[in-house]
Amino acid sequence: MLQTKIIKVSGESASPTPRQEEAIRCAGEILRQGGLVAFPTETVYGLGGDALNKDSSRKIYEAKGRPSDNPLIVHIYRMEDLPVVAQVNDAAVKIAEAFWPGPLTMILPKTERVPAETTGGLGTVAVRMPSHPVAQKLIACAGGFVAAPSANASGKPSPTLAKYVAEDMMGKIEMILDGGEVGIGLESTIIDLTVSPPQILRPGYITEAMLQQVLEEVDTDVTILDENSGQAPRAPGMKYRHYAPKGELTIVTGDAEKVVEYINLHAKQNSMSGEKVGVIATEETLHCYQAQVVKSVGSRMDESSIAHHLYRVLRELDDEQVTCIYSEGFTAEGFGQAIMNRLLKAAGHKVITLE
Ligand code: AMP
Ligand code: MG
Repeated sequence: MLQTKIIKVSGESASPTPRQEEAIRCAGEILRQGGLVAFPTETVYGLGGDALNKDSSRKIYEAKGRPSDNPLIVHIYRMEDLPVVAQVNDAAVKIAEAFWPGPLTMILPKTERVPAETTGGLGTVAVRMPSHPVAQKLIACAGGFVAAPSANASGKPSPTLAKYVAEDMMGKIEMILDGGEVGIGLESTIIDLTVSPPQILRPGYITEAMLQQVLEEVDTDVTILDENSGQAPRAPGMKYRHYAPKGELTIVTGDAEKVVEYINLHAKQNSMSGEKVGVIATEETLHCYQAQVVKSVGSRMDESSIAHHLYRVLRELDDEQVTCIYSEGFTAEGFGQAIMNRLLKAAGHKVITLE
């Protein structure tokens, strides 16, 4: 067992203080020595290791319990480092100019500097430049290349707070940098630039419409919302059950009044048969439900509030040992596509549609 140190650092909007900078330098040194450090980014907490050191990547898989065919994202902090890890093309330059630093990951052919362990044996590499000041500083202090998947145990919701990183990683990694609650709350958009037209493999805050303003044509992997497409997802990670709470989650969508009626009826029946029932509602509908645990995930008027709270609510339902969960559904357009993609995976695609 390792002694995991937890160190408080600044959030997204402030620069680190001199003392925090010292802590980040120390974290960078741990990464240079082949150790692991969890850190805040603008999307979710990442579990970092030196991306160019195959032993560090192995340790990341081990700490997460992650299948080793599921590649890691390499994080950089400046554009001039991109050619070190990837073969850059025109589309990559355009995308980087428009969206970096920020919540966008691009897939490109890898260079020989990147070990096969980091890319799950693939000839391509996923690269992102995060905007969070702590992440940027840490990557610089670590030598420029930090492999970092989300800092959760494999299969669990990604952590948006350091306490959830600690829950999954205590004793398995050297350090956790605690920057408070992260802003976006869902993982980065992934776009594959090795195919023509480029294809979105995982939806996120940067939407298809935003990407289409920069690239003429953009496709989206059909498996993102449709489980029955008969195809395998192109991002290896998307084939695994993911983001899942311990309780059995069902999404109920359709006519708003019928959704409330259905959830209340089933919540009552399930609790009579001994289940502890939780409901994922919205600000607008919170007062409509009778169940043991009812939580608002945000407002329907503001989908970024829903993204921001989703993983936290799933973790809180685990904390309260809820065994059966009903969630309202959301419109799968724009940023909503990312919300529904994660919610569908968390529910193992169990959806009730009421006309
Ligand atoms: P995480 O870092 O936990 O958000 O997971 C990284 C995601 O990026 C997983 O779904 C991976 O399958 C995906 N990914 C990483 N590298 C590649 C790659 N070279 N090609 C396709 N998908 C990738
Ligand atoms: Mg993840």
